[in-house]
Amino acid sequence: MLNMINIPLTILADKKGFFDRECPNSNCRYSFKIKLDDWKEKVSDERVYCPRCGHVDKSDQWWTQDQIKKIEIITKEWVENEIARQLNKTFSRLNSSMRGSSPIRFQFSVQRNHPVLFHDNIIRQCKEWEKEIVCEKCGTQYSVTGSAFFCPCCGYNSVEQAFSDSIHRIDSVLNSLTAITASMGRDEAEDFRRYILERSLTDIISAFQFYASSLYHLLTGEEPRRNDFQKIDIGSKHFESACGKGYSAWLTSAELSFMTIQFQRRHCLEHCGGIVDQQYIDRSEDYSYTIGQRLVVKEHDVRGLLAIVQKLTNGLNQVKTDKENSPDGTGH
Ligand SMILES: [Zn+2]
Ligand SMILES: [Zn+2]
Repeated sequence: MLNMINIPLTILADKKGFFDRECPNSNCRYSFKIKLDDWKEKVSDERVYCPRCGHVDKSDQWWTQDQIKKIEIITKEWVENEIARQLNKTFSRLNSSMRGSSPIRFQFSVQRNHPVLFHDNIIRQCKEWEKEIVCEKCGTQYSVTGSAFFCPCCGYNSVEQAFSDSIHRIDSVLNSLTAITASMGRDEAEDFRRYILERSLTDIISAFQFYASSLYHLLTGEEPRRNDFQKIDIGSKHFESACGKGYSAWLTSAELSFMTIQFQRRHCLEHCGGIVDQQYIDRSEDYSYTIGQRLVVKEHDVRGLLAIVQKLTNGLNQVKTDKENSPDGTGH
């Protein structure tokens, strides 16, 4: 008959108090850390969220590969030890029951390879990471590498966090562009540079679009049309009706015109291969190009857009904070 075996494990947090976890979704397997106390006290048994992909699973599904290996070793040692203990008991009982009545003696000795006491099976964590996040909604502390979107405890998706991660990533790529292209030939370096600058322009606008539509949804509860925030005037009007402030509350008209041009350039790069058409000129009012020309994305334009978009989102973040702090939650 099989009995349920209980092998006590002692989890030791890393130096900052975090516990390693890994997403069980085979498409993801993202590793993250969560404060051990939060894991014990706040996280539910039924629902844990992956910070990267949002996968939801029961709390016993999040062991890392490293932890699984350690647990396997501990289990094996425990079972071997237990079998040895049982055999010793059986043989000594057998010997004593046959004492004097039989010439046969059983000899059994167990090499105790693992003199560990099994109330001390320690699972240690990998080294601490730099980036720590505190969930705005439930206060759970977790630590991640790269971008993360969901709180492991409550699943809350921080729009500010996701946006600032994207902006930080784009900024790092721009900063390392010279170093990356240094070892390339002239043609290759030029093509690579162009590709990265066009990609960065697109990425900034995608990050902003995602941020603005998520924030609008948080403020109003309404689901905006996906592409509304690709257009400056429509996006601005949405916020004006939601919180009384359009983009001009934070940006000058020169900054708004610049932003409009860059947003239209992204549209032209995505949909027309960067070849200027009438629609581009009409919508951007960028008369520095004529129809049929190919757009050239300059680094200072990308950096300029990065700065303006950050300025705008700082303002919009404040609207959200004011709303959250106002007594009736309306911001008034
Ligand atoms: Zn995941
Ligand atoms: Zn949370």
